[in-house]
Amino acid sequence: MGTLNDVPDKLNFLGTKMKNKISRRKFLRDASIVSSSFATFNLLSCNNNKKPNIIIIFCDDLGYGDLGTFGHPSIRTPNLDKLAAEGQKWTNFYAAASVCTPSRAGILTGRLPIRSGMCSDVRRVLFPDSAGGLPQTEITIAAALKQAGYKNACIGKWHLGHLNQYLPTNHGFDYYYGIPYSNDMDAIKGTTRKEQINPRTEYFNVPLMRNEEIIERPADQNSITKRYTEEAVKYIRQNKDQPFFIYLAHNLPHIPLFASSDFNNTSKRGLYGDVIEEIDFGVGEIIKTLKENGLDKNTLVIFTSDNGPWLAFNQHGGSAGLLRNGKGTTWEGGMREPTIFWNPSKIKPAVIAGMGSTLDLFSTVCNLAGAQVPADRIMDSFNLLPTLFDGKPSPRNLFFYYRGTEIYAVRKGDFKIHLITQNSYTKNNEKIVHNPPQLYNIQVDPSEKYNISEQHPEIIEGILKDLVEHKSKLIPGEDQLAKRIVKSDQ
Ligand code: MG
Repeated sequence: MGTLNDVPDKLNFLGTKMKNKISRRKFLRDASIVSSSFATFNLLSCNNNKKPNIIIIFCDDLGYGDLGTFGHPSIRTPNLDKLAAEGQKWTNFYAAASVCTPSRAGILTGRLPIRSGMCSDVRRVLFPDSAGGLPQTEITIAAALKQAGYKNACIGKWHLGHLNQYLPTNHGFDYYYGIPYSNDMDAIKGTTRKEQINPRTEYFNVPLMRNEEIIERPADQNSITKRYTEEAVKYIRQNKDQPFFIYLAHNLPHIPLFASSDFNNTSKRGLYGDVIEEIDFGVGEIIKTLKENGLDKNTLVIFTSDNGPWLAFNQHGGSAGLLRNGKGTTWEGGMREPTIFWNPSKIKPAVIAGMGSTLDLFSTVCNLAGAQVPADRIMDSFNLLPTLFDGKPSPRNLFFYYRGTEIYAVRKGDFKIHLITQNSYTKNNEKIVHNPPQLYNIQVDPSEKYNISEQHPEIIEGILKDLVEHKSKLIPGEDQLAKRIVKSDQ
């Protein structure tokens, strides 16, 4: 059925020019990784059977309060609840951004999206008419693991550029199967809001791809979660004798919601509950497959989400539980995610209230796999293994909440300041600058209800110093980079 490069001339022209430049850059980058890690690779490739497998399950727009183990009263998630009980449940874990594209750049590169250009104040995410994507100069977790002898699959939503040169297969993944952007894109002309909340798969002409080929359009979204699980199970079986990395990025529960016939109308929480319960079932299938193949004790499974719930769709979206607001904002509900780490032979079961971020998965996974963390660039990624395996405090004490290229909030320890607040996806979304900044103790007050800025100006002052230091380490021009998310004709 062709590829997504089969598009208007102007866009192709830009793509080809970029591709030539990129190929050269990619070669230079690959050459430098290969030479610097050659000794490590040789050493480890003889011992591949002992290297742990890694599976990241990444939801789209899942709310902090949408799992049984995170307090939802009617959505049933027995498989995730069990994982959390046997592993570590992180209750202060943040996505790199509050919307899809920058969040995905963050998790896969271990760098703030502003450093890769995958954020913008003009357009917040990539669209089907975007010409850009994750630059080849960026090193993904998959690219780093590949040099350490791993086979890598990306299954599900990509959203870091749909033209061939940006697809997963050109970013370290050996295999790709999925919808390359959000499941509400390519909407047929005239699709109304009512149709978005009572959706049919043909309303959204999104492509389903295998590697760089479109294999189905529109993708049958009713069965998409089921098929993603089946692909993951198949990849585990096919690669059981070698170390593998699976990045399973579900398109759901992003609206429009779809569930297969086995799950439709089965949850007390309605269609949204059906969707989450199908994702949970898929987690169970993956764990079952690991056990059947004797891989469970040597596999790290991580479950989290890219951003908070899409509240603009009322009960069709998820819930941030007791956290304030949701997707698109720098309130806690926008970026704090329900997160579970599971590896029965190694992880000390616990609930971790220290801070962590999807940004940290790069260093964590590379340290576990014996892969190199790039030393030629600024990384924003902490190694969480000492917490996971030895119960030590989390190494992360600071987190910067970006919206596009701007920092709206900063958390240090238990305290968070808001420099700017702004709602999202609602009519009331005025940008408000706070001087002095708002201050919350978000362990005491996770709902961010009680501003204590007047009582503790010294805490604000301390956090502002960290902010100045952080900004001084941004490379000049990084905000200019963040113009990649634009229309093809801009
Ligand atoms: Mg999302």
